[in-house]
Amino acid sequence: MPELPEVESITRVCSIFKNATIQEIEFLNPKIRFHLQDTLLYLQDPSIEEITRRGKYMIWKLAKGALVFHFGMSGTLSFRSEPKKHDHIFFMIDDKPVFYNDPRRFGMVWFTEDLTEFLLKRRLGIEPFDSNFNGTYLQKYAALRTVSIKSFLFNQSIIAGLGNIYINEALFKARINPFRKVNAITIEEWSELSKMIQEVLTLAINAGGSTLQDYNDPHGCVGYFKLQHQVYQKDTCSYCYHPIIKIMQHQRATYYCPTCQAH
Ligand SMILES: [Zn+2]
Repeated sequence: MPELPEVESITRVCSIFKNATIQEIEFLNPKIRFHLQDTLLYLQDPSIEEITRRGKYMIWKLAKGALVFHFGMSGTLSFRSEPKKHDHIFFMIDDKPVFYNDPRRFGMVWFTEDLTEFLLKRRLGIEPFDSNFNGTYLQKYAALRTVSIKSFLFNQSIIAGLGNIYINEALFKARINPFRKVNAITIEEWSELSKMIQEVLTLAINAGGSTLQDYNDPHGCVGYFKLQHQVYQKDTCSYCYHPIIKIMQHQRATYYCPTCQAH
């Protein structure tokens, strides 16, 4: 599932479209998460002024309004000349064909006239690379809550961009048990966790960045890199060699080492 690093990687690839013009948009299969809006087909001034990311959203700021992409479980953009299965939207941008592909159909592409309002409605929390993101920030939000740390980190209105893979990895690196109640976590642990969140995201973005060289291939696809996970989908702890436990938590797989993450 595309989380912050994957969306950041796609956003960096798409930066080649800064100052480009969207010449054409066509719906190939409009059945994705919501019905695609016809406004996408009649953009008034479709020159792309800026390409940015906020949480798991990629944003193309246009001269009037913005296109916003959310990649759901399996969405991606492909740079190739021919359509293929699971393509939903075709874009022609400065004579370059681009396809929005999404086999599981949980993604979405919106046009909004008011980007600020669009993002406000999503109630997105702090970016993990914001200068104010630290242990004190996290502890402040956690003080009056009794949810598990895993559930807390999933809450996009507290931190924007995290998902199951990087939450598992960051908790492992910070040696925090995923079932801990957030109001019992110490400031030292919050501080360590904030650093480990930034560390796993940085490693993943750098891993994604190194694969970007392949995108010179006109038939290439913006794929997702495989970060060297330490706990996610692992059988044995890389520190202590204890078997990793896999357990479902809030309908998602939690992986942790019962020795390293005893508390
Ligand atoms: Zn261990």
